[in-house]
Amino acid sequence: MRPLLLGTFAFLMFTIIVLPSLIVRGLELAGPVPEPPREEAAGLTLGVFQEQTGEIVEMPLEDYILGVVAAEMPAEFEEEALKAQAVAVRTFALRRLKAYGGQGCEKHPGADVCTDPAHCQGWLSREEQQQKWGLVNYPRFQEKLARAVNLTSGLVITYDHELIDAAYHSTCAGHTEDASLVWGQEVPYLVGVPCPYDSDSPRYTDEVSYPLVEVAARLETQVAVPAAGGVGIAVDMAVLEESETGRILKLQAGEKTYTGREVRERLDLRSTKFRWELEGENLVFTTLGYGHGVGLCQYGANGMAKEGRSFREILQYYYRGVAIEALPGT
Ligand SMILES: [Zn+2]
Ligand SMILES: [Zn+2]
Repeated sequence: MRPLLLGTFAFLMFTIIVLPSLIVRGLELAGPVPEPPREEAAGLTLGVFQEQTGEIVEMPLEDYILGVVAAEMPAEFEEEALKAQAVAVRTFALRRLKAYGGQGCEKHPGADVCTDPAHCQGWLSREEQQQKWGLVNYPRFQEKLARAVNLTSGLVITYDHELIDAAYHSTCAGHTEDASLVWGQEVPYLVGVPCPYDSDSPRYTDEVSYPLVEVAARLETQVAVPAAGGVGIAVDMAVLEESETGRILKLQAGEKTYTGREVRERLDLRSTKFRWELEGENLVFTTLGYGHGVGLCQYGANGMAKEGRSFREILQYYYRGVAIEALPGT
């Protein structure tokens, strides 16, 4: 071989064989930890604090996910909605998992999560699933949910390669809410989006009536005042601030001011999207939607699934800028 050809040959050998192996080795050394196989993700266990018994039960992650989906979403829902819920549940749990660097359940030290739906996620044991669905439906719904969990096995939602805080709620009633307006912290993927998909939700609107004295007791302030002109009574309550989606941020009642969330909790309202009307001696509160309104809207997810959208499309609609990927091995 002539020197020029020899040089070319050596250069080609270097670029074809040596260089790629250097790049691969470099990646192996400096890159992220390789993803664990799916079976490994399925083999994960977590400590679940049981509200009913006060015990921490260690259980396989995928069993836990099925119990949460059973508690948190109607089993009658479309398969793609159930799959979206399963991925959100898995992501929510793994972000708290201590073995993954999470904080665990802050309310119950020692546990990764608890079964209180207001704190972590609701969860139903097999016996409770049977009670909820009845003996006839139980095998069918068990199989349906197991299928949704298995078909999404190991999949999680990430933003910037980190597990997201996968907040979800029942019904947003037309528009989801920015996390910053609910929890006071900006979260880039938890921003409000229009939701024209949940109008069929049986939880779209609700009405609850309280005697004025009970409202006063629950809010610990006087809400009934003499009406103008001195005849009859009027309600001393006013909205001070509301979000663009119509959720009350600040409210005045008597001599006090509250956040919408405080009033929602004190009066057991379904959301902070509420109005009231005086009817005789009662205050009638009308709410729109059910839940905090942040992240995935469950009835919206079912509406999207009915229109033929996949669980990935659903998740990427309600969580902005996220990726759906196999469990990162971090
Ligand atoms: Zn908890
Ligand atoms: Zn919605």
